Amino acid sequence: MNIKQNLILITLVLFMSACTHKAPYTNRNQMILISSEKELALGKQSYEQTLKESKIIYNTKDSLRVKRIGERIARVSQKNYAWEFNLVNNKAKNAFCLPGGKVVVYTGILAVAKNDDQLATVISHEIAHALARHGAERVSAGMISQGVQTLGNIALSTQGSQYSQAFNIAYGLGAQYGVLMPYGRLQESEADEIGIHLMHAAGYDLNEAIKFWENMSAGKNEGIEFLSTHPSSKNRIKNIKNIIKKVQKTR
Ligand SMILES: [Zn+2]
Repeated sequence: MNIKQNLILITLVLFMSACTHKAPYTNRNQMILISSEKELALGKQSYEQTLKESKIIYNTKDSLRVKRIGERIARVSQKNYAWEFNLVNNKAKNAFCLPGGKVVVYTGILAVAKNDDQLATVISHEIAHALARHGAERVSAGMISQGVQTLGNIALSTQGSQYSQAFNIAYGLGAQYGVLMPYGRLQESEADEIGIHLMHAAGYDLNEAIKFWENMSAGKNEGIEFLSTHPSSKNRIKNIKNIIKKVQKTR
């Protein structure tokens, strides 16, 4: 087999295995070209880097609160991750969850999440992105847009720095991402939906989810750029209300 045939074969194998992914709760078909192992390894690397660059807060009322709420949601996620929950001193109203259950909450979001149920809303939402492997899905989409040639290169390379760079972008690391710089609309509403299921299973007040997103949109007069990247908060709240109705009916 020559190199070209090899690449075609690799691409086919990747696409075939990609077809088998389904998002939790929503059962949406996903195209994911990265193995869970690779994703977890990259997640761990980025997580360690993030912590190194952050001021982590230990053993305060709020940091313990983040851990307590996070662990309660993790318990119902049915994922055997090595979960970690950190509160980081940062004014940005933000939070994110890296693959493998590494959750980072910024102190800035505490001003928006006014109680435990609201904090559970944002943590559930970020965990939902990780459970549904939205970052891997985004990296995969990027790989495809770069074409078969690159796809083959990425699949063959053992190191791949362009890979981890794409990863960082796709997972939205840093202050300007997470809640602030959302995934695409589809992934956002899916994370909202999965997040509500998690909150429900963990016994949190679902109505506080609506209040949390209302608080987020109230503090959102921070510039046109921000608004343009964010899904309309009216639509989001409407969708969340529908999800809550659905979830409450099933119990
Ligand atoms: Zn999100």
